[in-house]
Amino acid sequence: MTDALIGLPMLSFLLIPTMSSYSTSLNLLFFYLTWSTLVLSHPPLRVEVVASLAVRVLFYIAPSLFFLGFDALIPSVAETLKASGDSALPFKNANRKRTLAMLRILGWSTFNILLGVLVQALVELLFTRVLLWRSALRVTTTLPLPWGILKDLARGYLLREIIAYVLHRYILHDWHHTVSLSRAHRDWYHALANISAPFPLSASYDHPVAYLVRSFLPTYVPAVLFRFHLLTYILYLTLISLEETFAHSGYSTMPTNFILGGIARRTDNHLLCGGEGNFGPWGLCDLVMGTSVGADIVDDVVAEADKHDVPERMAKMKNRAKKVNGKVNDTKGGVRRRTRNRSED
Ligand SMILES: [Zn+2]
Repeated sequence: MTDALIGLPMLSFLLIPTMSSYSTSLNLLFFYLTWSTLVLSHPPLRVEVVASLAVRVLFYIAPSLFFLGFDALIPSVAETLKASGDSALPFKNANRKRTLAMLRILGWSTFNILLGVLVQALVELLFTRVLLWRSALRVTTTLPLPWGILKDLARGYLLREIIAYVLHRYILHDWHHTVSLSRAHRDWYHALANISAPFPLSASYDHPVAYLVRSFLPTYVPAVLFRFHLLTYILYLTLISLEETFAHSGYSTMPTNFILGGIARRTDNHLLCGGEGNFGPWGLCDLVMGTSVGADIVDDVVAEADKHDVPERMAKMKNRAKKVNGKVNDTKGGVRRRTRNRSED
């Protein structure tokens, strides 16, 4: 009995260091249980549609509306944060006509997002009910492995870049306007340049079909081709939603200025130069095909390397240290001189 009483606290004492890894495993276990319950208790289509919609609302519509509210309510502060100053404020000199035009743009942007989710649901229905294939995305109770997630994200992003570039450049910017869709893209999305520089929520503003071609298909097609696990797709869609939010926010400083800042500058330039270049979202294909306008992705890398140049920084620090040292010596000399002066007196 006493042995057991002494043994128990001893045991827990020995267990404490391993507790942190236990909590991680426990969290994973709870996540797995919640996820498998969710998948088992609801039809896969509903899980997929609700999850995609939630990601779009939480990581694109909500933060964009927040930025837009900030621009509208505190324009004096927002103006100093914008890359193109007060011309990027959508509600500047607001009159009735302008406000109505803005509301129309916001309405279409939101409609396009919903349209994307609707198309996604229709594709799933077509796959599972009409063609009787397996679902377009993998909705299973098993969790994807970290390596699998990374691999899917990498090839998903790469294919998205290529599809977006090809569709945007050759279909939406067919300059002879033989494709009527290119006229729609010019009259809708590129007319934004007359109203204001890119502003929050303008990422999804376009003619509905042009939006599907420019933004929805490049995002969705890789996920279907590689048959992403739904959880991987949710992560992928979250990252892209945040990218679109920041790239069109018009702010000059943003988190990870290197990646998001570069994307935002290229998006601005595509709009401001009337669509002469910068067709891909990341600018990778533009670099290869020589259609970059303004700073390309290599310039961004060089700028970032300069910013983090360690040898230069060390040299600066040494210089600063020398200066401080010199000042200390000077003051020491001054004190000595003064004391000498005093002793001479
Ligand atoms: Zn364009």
